[in-house]
Amino acid sequence: MIFIDRNLVNAPEELIDENGAGKKELAKAIAHYTSANRDKAYDKYNAYKLENVKEALKKLSKNKCAYCESIFLHAHVGDIEHFRPKGGVEFEYKVCQHCEQEYPKYSDGIVENKVCTHCGEAPTGSKKQLAKLTKKKMIKPGYYWLAADWNNLFLSCRNCNQKSKQLLANAVELESVGKMNQFPLLDENLRLKTHTDLLENEENVRLLINPSVEDPEDYFEYDIESGVIRAKKTNDLIEKRALASIKIYSLQRVPLVHLREKKIVDISRQMKRVERELRNVNTFYDPDNPDTHTFVESLQEELAILKGFLNEKEEFVGLAKQMIGTFLMENFQIDINAA
Ligand SMILES: [Zn+2]
Ligand SMILES: [Zn+2]
Repeated sequence: MIFIDRNLVNAPEELIDENGAGKKELAKAIAHYTSANRDKAYDKYNAYKLENVKEALKKLSKNKCAYCESIFLHAHVGDIEHFRPKGGVEFEYKVCQHCEQEYPKYSDGIVENKVCTHCGEAPTGSKKQLAKLTKKKMIKPGYYWLAADWNNLFLSCRNCNQKSKQLLANAVELESVGKMNQFPLLDENLRLKTHTDLLENEENVRLLINPSVEDPEDYFEYDIESGVIRAKKTNDLIEKRALASIKIYSLQRVPLVHLREKKIVDISRQMKRVERELRNVNTFYDPDNPDTHTFVESLQEELAILKGFLNEKEEFVGLAKQMIGTFLMENFQIDINAA
């Protein structure tokens, strides 16, 4: 995952114009949820599906999945993903079998085999019985007022956006992963309920990383042996958000980890070529001897190929920046983040 700068792409007129499809739809959704009918779900969201919206989203994340950075449009048309789910939020929680207190999955409170902070009792029973204490429900109506909000939309691949059973790296059993309607918070009491609530109030307790708000490089690092993605442990919040995002976007699914591993091999090979050319320059280059100038040219060619991995149109630029950033700093004192 890398930072996605929304300032670089114009928001589609259909979504921002006062008389455009997006604002009209928003007015209808608000009217519905402030009417006596509000207990029924409103489901006539279409503005986000407009062709121009999809095109703008493709441009925004350089034709890649905003979450896993895969190039996939040749195999699938791509999902338009609502960062905050429009129709309802899937809420996973644990129930204390003694006092029935509910604990959201990602909040502090009851954790596996620890005592309930409400009644002081510990969960007991077989693994199967303990598994039954985890339950799910849908919080309705969801973020209906953000269904056609440009800032709430991303292009995503199916595996990140939809639920499926996946084998994750270092696991033996398949697990149900993929974002779908999940949007966990650190404090459920701060969840926004209506279009008049202020987004800022929820931002501090949001767990999922929004690649166009924060820089994912502050949250993730990659194991450059295996391609496994890891949470940075800079502080507790960073680690929690990174772990929740890895899980929910299914960033540890085996086929994805394998592709990252392949990228690591390609980058490592290119680094070796650069190192070889650098040695040649250091050994043979003589400014006064034109015959040796080709060594500099060769070095520059190999360096250009290496820097090509940092082009945001390529897959897994987050990983490439970690590897190549260190390499260029050590060997050439080049800072890839300097403008
Ligand atoms: Zn993806
Ligand atoms: Zn309890």
